[in-house]
Amino acid sequence: DKYIVIGAGILGASTAYHLAKAGANVTVIDRKDEGQATDAAAGIVCPWISQRRNQTWYKLAKGGARFYPELIKELENEGESNTGYSRVGAISIHTDSKKLIEMEKRARKRLEDAPEIGEIQILTPTETKALFPLIADGYGSVYVSGAARVDGRAIRDTLLRSAQRYGATIVNGDAELLLHGTNVIGAKTSEETYFANTVIVTAGAWGSQLLEPLGIHFQVDFQKGQILHMKLQEMETDQWPVVMPPGSQYIVPFQDGKIVAGATHEKNTGFDLRVTAGSIQEILTQSLQFAPGLSSATIVEARVGFRPFTPDFLPVIGPLPGYKGVLIANGLGASGLTMGPYLGSLLAKLALKEEIDLDLEPYAISGALE
Ligand code: FAD
Repeated sequence: DKYIVIGAGILGASTAYHLAKAGANVTVIDRKDEGQATDAAAGIVCPWISQRRNQTWYKLAKGGARFYPELIKELENEGESNTGYSRVGAISIHTDSKKLIEMEKRARKRLEDAPEIGEIQILTPTETKALFPLIADGYGSVYVSGAARVDGRAIRDTLLRSAQRYGATIVNGDAELLLHGTNVIGAKTSEETYFANTVIVTAGAWGSQLLEPLGIHFQVDFQKGQILHMKLQEMETDQWPVVMPPGSQYIVPFQDGKIVAGATHEKNTGFDLRVTAGSIQEILTQSLQFAPGLSSATIVEARVGFRPFTPDFLPVIGPLPGYKGVLIANGLGASGLTMGPYLGSLLAKLALKEEIDLDLEPYAISGALE
């Protein structure tokens, strides 16, 4: 059987990898849109201390975090050394010790069915500073050893490269669905027509455009995120934990003094790729408040990405109702780096008609249709 994957962000890249590894014939078509969420994202894999109570969301986020270490081991065994993933732990910081105790409780409760959380520990301001020297005075933290950082670009490229090694073909192009009645029989670009038994659409913020010619209103909207890359001179930052301050922003250290801070959540911007003064001010104000030691860092670049969302803020995955030969997944929102590799593996299983040990009904595509 032949498979086409349209869209090669983290979700499509993981789907292609898992299909190709299973021996399937896979063609990936990607338009490389500027603003690809995966390309801009550098972030955190730490779903366990989130206050978000939605169990349906949490199941995927938890599954996503659990899935990573095995996948990374597998990729490393296949010769990949730059996966962009590192389990450096996270510190969720606060000045209020009551808040820290609540956070610790939340994490401990979740530890019961998520041992991958690892060690959970409340740290004093001094201990917190020892782990992350740039932090402001007075911040204690909850340390979670199983949390990780991941570089979206690096993991995406690793998955695509590995898919290619297993025989996948990767095409740069703008794909349209090819239909015969209500059967999706392939995809075409301006250059070529590709036939397949199953077409998988993982097109992120652009997902609704692909379904428009079918008269389908796919309700995937997006939020613009701006994120800032900085560099510290001569600092050994590789082992520093991810910092999660109160609010929605975070600070993610990488190797060689690289520090990524952000990101903004901007609604109704359209596909506006601009880096804006107000957003950079917001990121700097927040990150310097929590980590004043960043004030001497070099500003390297700012990136912009569009996080795809459904109306319920829940990912959707499955067949398109009323059509044959097409599977869709989308709506990974602000936690797509966390969920993407796992969801891609499920999508590959769906396509290969293999059994899945998760009830996908709550994530049916109908949830994003009018
Ligand atoms: P995308 O990565 O957007 O990929 C979609 C691809 O489809 C694009 O390459 C596009 O060109 C292609 N495409 C679309 N239409 C077509 C077509 N017709 N033909 C061919 N190709 C097409 N998540 C976390 O878990 N932790 C974080 O800390 C985190 N931080 C983030 C920070 C920022 C600034 C942003 C923007 C996102 C962050 N995320 C984070 C969220 C995560 O990045 C996204 O949820 C995830 O990358 C979405 O992946 P995707 O593959 O669905 O979409």
